[in-house]
Amino acid sequence: MNTSVVLFTSDLRLHDHPPLRAALASADEVVPLFVRDPAVDRAGFAAPNRTAFLADCLADLDAGLRRRGGRLVVRAGDPVAEVLDVARRTDAGDVHLAAGYSRFARDREERLGHALKADGRRLHVHDGVVTAVPAGAVTPAGSDHFAVFTPYHRRWTREAVRAPLAPPRAVRVPADVRSDDLPSRSSVAAVSEGLAPGGETEGRRLLTRWLDRYGDAYEERHDDLAGDATSRLSPYLHFGAVSAVEAVHRARGRGGPGAEAFVRQLCWRDFHHQVLHARPDASHADYRPRGDRWRRGPQAEADLRAWQEGRTGYPVVDAAMRQLAHEGWMHNRGRLLTASFLTKTLYVDWREGARHFLGLLVDGDIANNQLNWQWVAGTGTDTRPHRVLNPVLQGRRHDPDGAYVRRWVPELAGVAGAAVHEPWKLSGPERAALDYPDPVVDLAAGLARFREARGRI
Ligand code: FAD
Repeated sequence: MNTSVVLFTSDLRLHDHPPLRAALASADEVVPLFVRDPAVDRAGFAAPNRTAFLADCLADLDAGLRRRGGRLVVRAGDPVAEVLDVARRTDAGDVHLAAGYSRFARDREERLGHALKADGRRLHVHDGVVTAVPAGAVTPAGSDHFAVFTPYHRRWTREAVRAPLAPPRAVRVPADVRSDDLPSRSSVAAVSEGLAPGGETEGRRLLTRWLDRYGDAYEERHDDLAGDATSRLSPYLHFGAVSAVEAVHRARGRGGPGAEAFVRQLCWRDFHHQVLHARPDASHADYRPRGDRWRRGPQAEADLRAWQEGRTGYPVVDAAMRQLAHEGWMHNRGRLLTASFLTKTLYVDWREGARHFLGLLVDGDIANNQLNWQWVAGTGTDTRPHRVLNPVLQGRRHDPDGAYVRRWVPELAGVAGAAVHEPWKLSGPERAALDYPDPVVDLAAGLARFREARGRI
């Protein structure tokens, strides 16, 4: 009996799964394995929301495998040691794995490759599983990666995205492989109340429903904070419960400007992965240092706390931060304006904001979070690094009626219309009745401080 191991990581699905397909094509039995690596917790990458969502994904993957005659094997420990143990016990000669792009993933891949080779076994790393186009597949002349999105997008659009693969009909798993119990969502403490359910089944349903309902309108509506018309697929893509390759094909199959605008966002995801792949240090070091001397000390800490708690006195900033706490997810426009507010208006280090986001975001990932934070802070790939978003104008533009603010900031629920974006302008008893903080910073003063810091006065 010929056996292979498939190590699942950020690809928790059965549809469009090249490593599983390859393993099934060459082996009689396959061990679908997921290893909970304590190093992820030690590195601070685990957050309750993601741990809970992951539990859903694993349960759904296990259920899908069981419907096909198999099951998921779950272990806790060092992935290299666990894979070796499973491979030896089942006499598996081949191990299949999706290529990862963070330093963490690449170290794991390398260690695994060496350990398997020393043991007389082979590791097969499959590219283009986590992203639509493999990181490093498109490069500009003279560099190992694109540093600017627009030319990357142009090239990426011309690249053929491989066809998605059908899910397997049957998966035979050796009977005597030990598995830990599956983790359960209910055992995870401190999970956001409004956290979405995880798993491939839910992700696929969401993709279909969203394309039908909002796909055509995405271009006009993606910045509408209250309308909430973006796909919310990010956590499913992060855990690989939905394949980026398949999402591109499904959207392109529909056609139209909405679908193309959505595909462009998926390209942003690939863009950040290819930057991180080429510059793994960008997870913590400035991609383009600007000589920032970020504010520190008690006042900066108090400002950071107000931002984290959604009590800055700027309603649209506070609404978005409260959405993050409640759902473990935030609208992209909210992410842009809260990150700009922290790094530019308050001039606090982007790493503080990125850490807070990573502690809560269900889709939080090193490539997209760290590089988007740098993009907004002006230390990343933005070609206009010193632009500052004004939260009042952002609120008026992207939440014109104020519905988003009223949804998330109950203290302001009684303020009608766009006036909700400037509660300090209210007068008399209406203002006196508000239990809502005054702005932590004067916008003009914040802007001047930032410009001076960047030498742009
Ligand atoms: P949609 O608008 O429906 O877009 C579809 C998909 O495209 C998303 O699911 C996502 O996978 C991808 N995408 C969209 N915008 C971006 C972008 N700017 N960069 C990379 N991919 C994008 N996204 C994450 O997945 N994880 C993060 O940790 C993360 N942190 C962010 C931090 C900041 C400061 C900012 C400004 C953005 C961050 N983003 C992150 C990008 C973006 O905000 C989210 O991907 C998006 O809001 C998710 O919602 P959606 O699925 O409805 O997106």
